Amino acid sequence: ENTPEGKKRAQLAGLLTSPDSSEKLPKHVPYLIIGGGTAAFSAFRSIKSNDAKAKVLIISNENRKPYMRPPLSKELWYTPNANEDPIKDYRFKQWTGSERSLFFEPDEFFVDPEKLEDSVNGGIAVAQGFAVKKVDAQSRTVTLNDGYKITYNECLIATGCAPKNLPMFRDAAPNVREKVMVYRTPDDFDRLRRYATEKRTIAIVGNGFIGSELACSLAHYSKENGGGKVYQIFQEGGNMSKVLPNYLSRWTMSKMKNQGVCVIPNASIKSATRDEESLKLELNNGMTLLSDIVVICVGCSPNTNLASPSKLEVDRSLGGFVVNAELEARRNLYVAGDASCFYDPLLGRRRVEHHDHSVVSGKLAGENMTGAKKPYVHQSMFWSDLGPEIGYEGIGLADSSLPTVGVFALPSATEGRSSTDNLTENRDADDGSKHTIIVNEKSQTDAVTCQDDANEEQPNYGRGVIFYLKNEKIVGVLLWNLFNRVGLARTIINQNKKYDDLNEVAKLFEIHS
Ligand code: FAD
Ligand code: NAD
Repeated sequence: ENTPEGKKRAQLAGLLTSPDSSEKLPKHVPYLIIGGGTAAFSAFRSIKSNDAKAKVLIISNENRKPYMRPPLSKELWYTPNANEDPIKDYRFKQWTGSERSLFFEPDEFFVDPEKLEDSVNGGIAVAQGFAVKKVDAQSRTVTLNDGYKITYNECLIATGCAPKNLPMFRDAAPNVREKVMVYRTPDDFDRLRRYATEKRTIAIVGNGFIGSELACSLAHYSKENGGGKVYQIFQEGGNMSKVLPNYLSRWTMSKMKNQGVCVIPNASIKSATRDEESLKLELNNGMTLLSDIVVICVGCSPNTNLASPSKLEVDRSLGGFVVNAELEARRNLYVAGDASCFYDPLLGRRRVEHHDHSVVSGKLAGENMTGAKKPYVHQSMFWSDLGPEIGYEGIGLADSSLPTVGVFALPSATEGRSSTDNLTENRDADDGSKHTIIVNEKSQTDAVTCQDDANEEQPNYGRGVIFYLKNEKIVGVLLWNLFNRVGLARTIINQNKKYDDLNEVAKLFEIHS
């Protein structure tokens, strides 16, 4: 967005309200935040509630005021505002039925950066379209890309992460590159929506959160809009395989197919060439596809460019700025959100790329910037929706490389199989002994074994709970179509103990009610 073209688009859309030159920005602010996303805005709220007249300056290299990202791959595609481009204020319908905007607050909420210093009641100003290149923690000074310096009392780095591309597309000819995009901003939504509205063919690469959510949303949008094919191509055997155990990942993939996504697992793109209109994609499994646009959803990298000039440490394996449990990188310098590699006193060093974490860590950083000195001990959660039949929430280390135990409720007793045991475990064939599935029928006496027989009808993993284990303790919980139980899951993780019978723990989740 901070390209000349992005700036021009923002100007045309009346978005650019920031000063045209950094000279007009304050030379000193009590609170300075680098990055203008979710963690930044959450930090502002918490600073303001602890220091009512706080003056907070956000430096953001985007040309928009702070906004949330989750609806970009979900709700916005289900909101019927077909004729608007762009959709005004990016308004969308929440699951409660009420409408809201992607933006946390309307424009009027913000103070003009030129007036912040003189504002009697303080407030928040956003310097849009400016980037920070360096922080000097010793002299408490940030330097912008153009060399302008601002001093601070307390500073937060909340630079988030940037989508990765694949080398074959990054290094491709311009006529191929113009048919390839990543997905993170409202501009990306606008661009992809234009393709979808024109009933074009869209190929998504990646099986993770964005790839899977977007594939579902686009398939739905195409149906409503009367056409447009959606491919989802990935190397793995099923959707969301970094989070879901194999059996559930494959089951989810079959649901995605039912929704109209043309899923191509176990595949990667070997070559991409351009004809008049579209890209010809040759896959390593021998398939050839024609697509009008390719959306690369292969993860993101934390924005840590300013680490080296600022002499800040970046975690070698997890990425992100290394901070302690209080989210401090140095004295008076904090890091929150996607870019923060923090020390979780319970689960060890971590980096989390989810909305709730950015809210909670931003809030804590804001409190600590106003003197609280609190550790980050609250386990944040995440959620995702994959069409009408799948919604899940997770907490802790929901990582499918760990051993898991999943306990599921069968929707009815009509599956035609029964056993006298109340519960029967079985091993997922492809996973060896790593993942245990327990299928648990509603009836008190009848129970059902989920067979490992390929000819057997697949069980319906309609609702359940999955425990992720490390050293035999529960370190993560995934609530599968099971809502309002995150608090319980959090309590169980915080108990940090070994349970003899995970089925007893599962019963606490009342998966049948
Ligand atoms: P960001 O929101 O990325 O904000 C960082 C900001 O800093 C950006 O504006 C960036 O341009 C700016 N910046 C970077 N470097 C500099 C610099 N040097 N100077 C100035 N500014 C800079 N999570 C969920 O839990 N549930 C969901 O359903 C969900 N859906 C998502 C859907 C999409 C399409 C995407 C992309 C993400 C989704 N996420 C979801 C993830 C969630 O949005 C992120 O974890 C969250 O946005 C991270 O917040 P942040 O403030 O750390 O970073
Ligand atoms: P992701 O980490 O969820 O998934 C990345 C996927 O990229 C992997 O699962 C793999 O399939 C693929 N991949 C990685 N390297 C590859 C390679 N070299 N070639 C081919 N495929 C490769 O990342 P994402 O889906 O791109 O999402 C980006 C960020 O946004 C993540 O931080 C994610 O957590 C966040 N997000 C979260 C939610 C949510 O919480 N509901 C929703 C959307 C996005």
